[in-house]
Formats: sequence, structure tokens, C-alpha cells
Amino acid sequence: MKQSVTQILDFFKKHKYGKMTLALIVTGAIIAGALFLTAKPDEEPVPLSEVAEAISAGQVNRIEDSPDTGILTIYYKDKSQDTTRRDKTAPFLEQMKYLGVSETQMAQLQYELVEQKSMSGDKVINIAISVAMLGLLGFALVRMNGGAMAGIRKKYTEGDIPNTTFKDVAGIDESREELIDIVTFLKNKEMYARMGARMPRGVLLVGDPGTGKTLLAKAIAGEAGVPFFTTSGSEFVEVFVGVGASRVRSLFKKARSKAPCIIFIDEIDAAGRKRNAGSGGGEMEQDQTLNQLLVEMDGFAAAEGVVVLGATNRVDVLDPALTRPGRFDRHVNVPRPDIKGRLSILEVHVKDRRLAPDVNLLDVAKSTPGLVGADLANIVNEAAILAVRSGHEAITKADFQEAVEKALTGGVQQKSRVMKEDERRTIAYHEAGHAVVMHETPHSDPVYKITIIPRGQMGGFTMALPEQDRLLMSRNQILARITGLMGGRVAEELFCDDITSGAGHDLKVATQLAEEMVMRLGMSDTGLRVFNKPEGFEGMAAPRTGQKTFEELDHAIKQILDQCYAEAKRIVSEKRETMERVTQSLLKQETLSREEFVAIMQ
Ligand code: ADP
Ligand code: ZN
Repeated sequence: MKQSVTQILDFFKKHKYGKMTLALIVTGAIIAGALFLTAKPDEEPVPLSEVAEAISAGQVNRIEDSPDTGILTIYYKDKSQDTTRRDKTAPFLEQMKYLGVSETQMAQLQYELVEQKSMSGDKVINIAISVAMLGLLGFALVRMNGGAMAGIRKKYTEGDIPNTTFKDVAGIDESREELIDIVTFLKNKEMYARMGARMPRGVLLVGDPGTGKTLLAKAIAGEAGVPFFTTSGSEFVEVFVGVGASRVRSLFKKARSKAPCIIFIDEIDAAGRKRNAGSGGGEMEQDQTLNQLLVEMDGFAAAEGVVVLGATNRVDVLDPALTRPGRFDRHVNVPRPDIKGRLSILEVHVKDRRLAPDVNLLDVAKSTPGLVGADLANIVNEAAILAVRSGHEAITKADFQEAVEKALTGGVQQKSRVMKEDERRTIAYHEAGHAVVMHETPHSDPVYKITIIPRGQMGGFTMALPEQDRLLMSRNQILARITGLMGGRVAEELFCDDITSGAGHDLKVATQLAEEMVMRLGMSDTGLRVFNKPEGFEGMAAPRTGQKTFEELDHAIKQILDQCYAEAKRIVSEKRETMERVTQSLLKQETLSREEFVAIMQ
């Protein structure tokens, strides 16, 4: 026997492809053996439907669910137990509900989330085979794409230290700057503790989907070399009471054992919406999850080095309890990128790809106003796939053009807002109007930044900042501010065919300011009497002023608004040429700094 084996081995050695063939045969034999082992009928994992039936019949005592692996351990009341696998892409409880298990039935057993669980031997092999097959498939896919998918990295598993760094994040430098101290803290938490410095604990990243919030959070962990834990608020919103809360608890437990580390909670608004807003199911659950989150955040000392980063695109819907000091008390805006930003994001994503000489990334950046980092990453990927498909050696200009077109017509990205050219033009005139009026109004704060990059509901914005902090505002300063707010609408009237809803917010703020002046600051001819803001039902039921007084106040408010509007109109009509210059620069650059703006004005 021994001899014959040696003979066979020799045979393989002598042949050219012998070694490879041998390897193939051995691998094949192992797989076949494993398949044979796992195919034994009594070793089959129980189907989920049977688990559901057992639960409905009240036979189950406890279930352990390992969300990382999808492996379930079922402990029956008769002391027997089973292991099985579930679909990892959906929460277990949802699957059970689908299979006809009611909430009451579910509540009768103990449901626990556990960390990765090992299985009995044959099942491990079973899984190993699936993994190997997937790996092979993935490898084949990458090969077939001729390296177009070269960007693929090892899949990230929870609690690892990400290999993402700040180099991977482009175009949102200001947001990044605001987060650098967290890296410093995570790296030197002892030093921070010794010096008694205030340590960051919860930071909210605020920005539209795809602007790079997750990426930024990961990069912080990567830069600091600490583990990264992630979850999403939408995962917490469960039909079954208590599950969200238990997930939060186990997440924080895991994280604290690995501190210093980062916990990232995407879509935190799903878990932390204002309580009692609206009605319907899931609310109780949400409360429990939110409470658990608050308990966990209050429960650890910042010195432990767990930093919680939350992401949302709406701060206004968040429960105020979340943003209180010691919780998510710092907010960092992650804006949509401007042309320069888009260019650098594109540069990051083409790093490992071959580009044809006719590609000009600046042109690509110019043709994608309003798009975010995720869109741009998609465009590069799409262009690479198109290049492979048409047999190009490298990604060509035409590939990019087609990919951009696809993205703009909504082929790739659903939610992104793509600005139409005439809309962009209107926004540019509108913002130029604000800026020019502010610049020409004596008591106005200096213009600090103008942009036509949309943010949230706003098309663009012009920001003015006082040169110093101040305690008081004079009448002239308030009037100047109202005048500046009018500049947007006035510009639309004078330069565009029609007026838009874009001035809605401006007019609201302007009206509030005028109201303040008249009703609460004694800054109009109506006298010094101040009027409290009506509050709640009381205010609605009983007007505090007589009809005549009310008319007087109303008239005074209108007068202030009219006066400021007239002033804004005078300025914009006189500065037509300056308006054009500012607008053109905005269309070209999308964002103007104070220096750039002042240079244009001179
Ligand atoms: P968000 O969390 O804000 O929805 P993500 O961080 O998930 O956005 O972004 C998705 C992907 O888009 C990232 O993995 C990255 O490839 C790309 N991306 C987004 N923003 C940027 C950016 N500023 N720089 C580089 N790539 C980006
Ligand atoms: Zn405006």
C-alpha cells in the first residue's frame, strides 16, 4: 500500500502539470468528503419553519441568536437543543413573524443576542465550503472584470481596526478638521485624562446621504488605530419590544471591552426621533431603544475612550435628550462638495485605475453639480465597467461621459439631487443678491462665505459673520440684516424670469426680526410696550391686544419689511454689473470665500 502511494506521487511529480493536478484532486476529494458528511440526513440543520412551529407550540425555552454569523441555537423545553442558520439580511424576529409566530408567542421565550458562536464539526465544514465557494466566485468575478473592480478590499468585520484613513476622505476638509481632536484623544487618552481635558464623547455628523459620514467615522478609527463598531438606527426599530434596547446594550458591552474604540450609529434619527411625535406601532420600542442608548451614553466615563459618532441628515427631528451636554453635544456638518471637492474625491477614486490621456477630471467635476461622494464613487466604478465592456485599455473620456449621464438621469443613484442648469442660475443670482446687498449695507456683518451647493432644504446660502462677538444688536444692525435677507428675492425679480420659493426661509427670518423689533424691543413708532409671545392654547384663545393695537403693530412690521425691501432693490439695481460678476464666479466655482468675494467687489 505504502509503495503504491509513492508510485502515484512519483507519477505526478514527473508530469508537467502534475503538481497542480494533484492539488486539484486533493481539493476535490476534501470537498466531496465534506459534502458526503454534511449530506447525512440526520445532520441537516432544522428548517426555520420548524423552529417557528416549535415556538408557536410553546416548546421552545430559549433562543440564542448570533447576528454576525446568522447561527441560531434553540433550547427546547424538553432539554434538547438544535443549531440552525437563518437569513442574516433580515432580523430574526421579522422572519419569525413572517412564518406566523405572534408577538405573544415570541414573548414567552427568552431571546438573546450572543457573539459569534462556534458550531459542531460538520456544520463548520459546511460553512467553510460556502465561504470557499464564495471566495472563488468573488475571485473569478474580479478577474473577469479585468481589474475594474480593483478597489475591492477585504470585507470589514465588526470590531476590526479599519484600514481606511483620512487619505480616503476627500473634499470635506472642514468637517475632517473638526474631528481631528478625536483622533488625538483616542491615541492619547491617558494624557487627556491626566491633564483633565474635556474629552469628546458623542459627536453628530450631519449631512445628506452619501456625503461620506460613514467613511469619515471609519477613517477616524483607522487613523487612531482603534476598533470600529457600527450599527444603524433603523436596525433598532423592531416590531418586538425590547430587541432594539438589547442590541444597544450588547453593542456597548462589546465596545467597552475593546476601548479605546469608536461606535458609529448610522441613521440615528430612526432610533432617536422626538418622542410622542405622531402615533402608531413601534413607538414604545423606539422609546426603549432611545432610553437604552441614553443610559449607555451616560453610563461610561468619557475617560474610558469610547467615542460615539452618530450620523443623520436631520438634526431637527432628533429627541432633544440626545443632544444634551455629555451626549451628542457636538455637531459637525458634512456638506455636499463643491467643484474643488468633487475633483479631489474623483482623484481618490481613480487612484488605482488606468485613465486614458483624454480624461480631464476637472470636466467631470464640473459636470456633476449637486452630486455627493457616493455618487462620484459610483461614477468612477461605472466608467470602469463601461471601459471593460467596450474593451478599452483604460477608462476614456467617453466612458466617463456615459457614466455621468447615467448618474444624472437617475440610473445609478436614486436619492441624489441633481441641479438643473436654470435652477443653478437662479440660485446663483439669489445668493449674489444677498452678498452684494450685505456688502453695500453699512451696518451689515461682512460676507464670510457664499455657496450655491445645496444643503438640506436650502438651495445655497450666504453667510455673514460679525467681526467680533457681541452682546447687543443695534437697530441699524437688525435693519441691515433684514435688508440683506431681502437681497435674494430682489435679485430673482430683477435677473430671472420668475420668482421662486427659494426666498421663503429668508422672508420668514426677516418677518421674525421685524416682529421682534416692534413687539419686543420697542424699536418702532408704536411705542415701548412689549408683547409676550402667545403660547399654546392660551395664546390662541385670548388675544392680548385690542383690534386697533393689533393693526398698528401689524402696520409697523410691514413698514420695516417694505423699507428694507426698497433699500435692497435700490442696491441691486445700481450694482447690476457687480451682480453679474459675482453670479458668474459662483456658477464657475460654486463657493466663494470672503477673500474671493472681496476681490470681485473691488
Ligand atoms: P454617508 O455615510 O454619508 O451616507 P458614506 O460614507 O457611506 O456616506 O459614503 C459611501 C461611499 O461613497 C464611501 O464609501 C466612499 O467610497 C464614497 N464617498 C463618499 N464621500 C466621500 C468623500 N468625501 N471622499 C471620498 N469618497 C467618498
Ligand atoms: Zn436666500
